[in-house]
Amino acid sequence: MSSIPISLLDLEEHDACGLGAEDYQKKEGKWCAGCGDFGVLNAVKRLLAKHQIRPEKMAFISGIGCSSRFPHYVNAYGFHGIHGRALPIATGLKLARPDLDVFVVTGDGDCTSIGAGHWIHATRYNANMTVLLLDNNIYGLTKNQTSPTTPQGHPSNTSPRGSQLPALDPLQATLGVSNASFVAQTADWVPAHLYATIEAAYAHPGFSFVRVLQRCPKFTPDVFSANVKNPDLTELLVHEKGVNAPGLEKLFKATRVHDPKDLDGARTLAQRKDMLRLGVFFCDDSFPVYDEVRAVPPVTPEEKIQRLEKEFDRYAV
Ligand code: SF4
Ligand code: MG
Repeated sequence: MSSIPISLLDLEEHDACGLGAEDYQKKEGKWCAGCGDFGVLNAVKRLLAKHQIRPEKMAFISGIGCSSRFPHYVNAYGFHGIHGRALPIATGLKLARPDLDVFVVTGDGDCTSIGAGHWIHATRYNANMTVLLLDNNIYGLTKNQTSPTTPQGHPSNTSPRGSQLPALDPLQATLGVSNASFVAQTADWVPAHLYATIEAAYAHPGFSFVRVLQRCPKFTPDVFSANVKNPDLTELLVHEKGVNAPGLEKLFKATRVHDPKDLDGARTLAQRKDMLRLGVFFCDDSFPVYDEVRAVPPVTPEEKIQRLEKEFDRYAV
């Protein structure tokens, strides 16, 4: 761990922990060269350093997949769960330890296939956590099987003649769930947008769902390559209440003003397939948050004993 920079020591009274971005990296990421997961890890490390989140005050929860290796690489509490189960683990943790900042890192196979039931209910529960869906349109860790988000016609080991069905759209699905409170899309190859989106998600008091379009040079090198090469094929959603990062409007010629409170507009945009769209599709912080509405007021040891005695008295003979 590096020595504490002077500038951060000055912030000690504001509960700064004195960690720089690199101090949040527990060990080197073991992903393929060029994998988009590295960019997401860098953005997360920047966020943790900027907000000076103490390692013991946050937890990263994952399921199974390339992206689910994330908790091994972050200097924080971590739980590398089983396939598709990151969200119920994270919800349980948030209920038991509401003081922790909870992050979930999941993949398209993990979240939208085996974990799909949990995804719907966790969205509706709207517990306060930041969920990053790293969507590379394929099962990568298990070496190239079609996932629900694999584009129609894209070949894989399980669909050698190409995926037969239209891909499931995670934005459309999440926006269709009652009580969904934050839905955004960003891309690993636009670092400024990626960072600003994760920061907006972290700031949102509720279940923040961010789909990160993630390059997988190993198995789906073609799916985002046109957009990576040509920014004109991507439209940026802009609004004062959305994601704003300096310089982005110069990079992307196509911009659209979209109010994140407009749910119908968000659903219409998510449905359109003419361009990739990056930005906050929907955000409303007035919806019920499960860990708040379900919170039980703290009870003193004396009160607990009184309640127990009362219960025992009911069965006294
Ligand atoms: Fe990244 Fe794809 Fe390699 Fe997995 S298989 S580490 S997603 S490049
Ligand atoms: Mg995947």
